Amino acid sequence: MTKDWNTRTNLVHAGTRRSQYGEVSEAIFLTQGFVYDTAEQAEERFIESGDDEFIYARYGNPTVRMFEERIATLEGAEDAFATASGMAAVNGALMSLLKAGDHVVSARALFGSCLYVLEDILARFGVEITFVDGTEIDQWRDAMRSDTKVVFLEALSNPTLEVIDIRKVSDLAHEVGATVVVDNVFATPIFQRSLDLGADVIVYSATKHIDGQGRCLGGVVLGTRDYIRKTLEPYMKHTGGSMSPFNAWVMLKGMETLDLRCRTQGNSALAIAEAVEGHAKVDRVLFPHLKSHAQYDLARAQMTKGGTVLSLVLKGGQAEAFRFLNALQIITISNNLGDAKSIITHPSTTTHQRLTPEQRETLGIGDGLVRLSVGIEDTDDLIADIMGALDAV
Ligand SMILES: *Cc1c(COP(=O)(O)O)cnc(C)c1O
Repeated sequence: MTKDWNTRTNLVHAGTRRSQYGEVSEAIFLTQGFVYDTAEQAEERFIESGDDEFIYARYGNPTVRMFEERIATLEGAEDAFATASGMAAVNGALMSLLKAGDHVVSARALFGSCLYVLEDILARFGVEITFVDGTEIDQWRDAMRSDTKVVFLEALSNPTLEVIDIRKVSDLAHEVGATVVVDNVFATPIFQRSLDLGADVIVYSATKHIDGQGRCLGGVVLGTRDYIRKTLEPYMKHTGGSMSPFNAWVMLKGMETLDLRCRTQGNSALAIAEAVEGHAKVDRVLFPHLKSHAQYDLARAQMTKGGTVLSLVLKGGQAEAFRFLNALQIITISNNLGDAKSIITHPSTTTHQRLTPEQRETLGIGDGLVRLSVGIEDTDDLIADIMGALDAV
């Protein structure tokens, strides 16, 4: 039935399960367990539970199931499994697919914790990882091997917002039989359909745009029913990374306004990028749908909007960047993104502090770079705030 609906209708209605009370707002089933009418029914459910039959909240819960079905419908995926955080999703997607001796090819520019899972955890268990510059398709081609099992990438790199050609990378991965796992957070489920571009598994930190109001941690893994139920679910349900029913309810409410928020934020981000580009205090503006972006054509082909995050490279270094951040009135200094509130961060001293100066240099993260996650405030107010703070630099 939901197949005929468009995005905004799905975001409000897909996956809804009403109890016998006919509630309008989705119910929070804040229960860890479920009772059985008879011992025989309990036995049967442990052999094979149906769609509306639950056993234990670590395995599944009605509120969590509503969230999984709603996001699977939005993404065009056969199934989904909700997780306690974005990192539980990334870790589960990778761990459930890999064993000692396997090979992974990954883009080098990764969210810090994703890099830790690959470099420090998986490597410790005998998984070999080759890192490549995600924008260089030849590096991907050269890195693929017959024992490559997983290809991992973030659709847009953080915080330099480079674009990876998902179709080309997926084609190369599929030639050697590897599974393509895409962390689609920066592209958002609204602006980019990575499954249609060839990816096999999508992961989100629902903490970002899906909640979008800075309240809860959450994550989700999406893919074929076979992958989600036979490969991922056994790993997740036995290792404890499942989403709480309360957080699933917050995410369901977040999804109702996801399209409205992302579009508003995406439009503002482009307007801000255009307004700030060329400013005397700004060396460069990094935003995928800005004409000056090195991969503008690819970004236009792959994403309907350029995302909700942009980076400004200020002339000068840390001192200038700090003066800029400290002079902002509306935009707050924090490190979340995708929030209704505009948030700014200085990656080289915060989110990417752990890297060596050489690693930051390779990734293009200089001391003058600031990352701005654009919220839903009035665009003109945000531009005025930024211009005022630039004057103070
Ligand atoms: C935030 C983020 C994560 C981790 O999500 P959490 O919900 O904080 O665990 C993973 N990948 C990307 C790209 C992110 O932005």
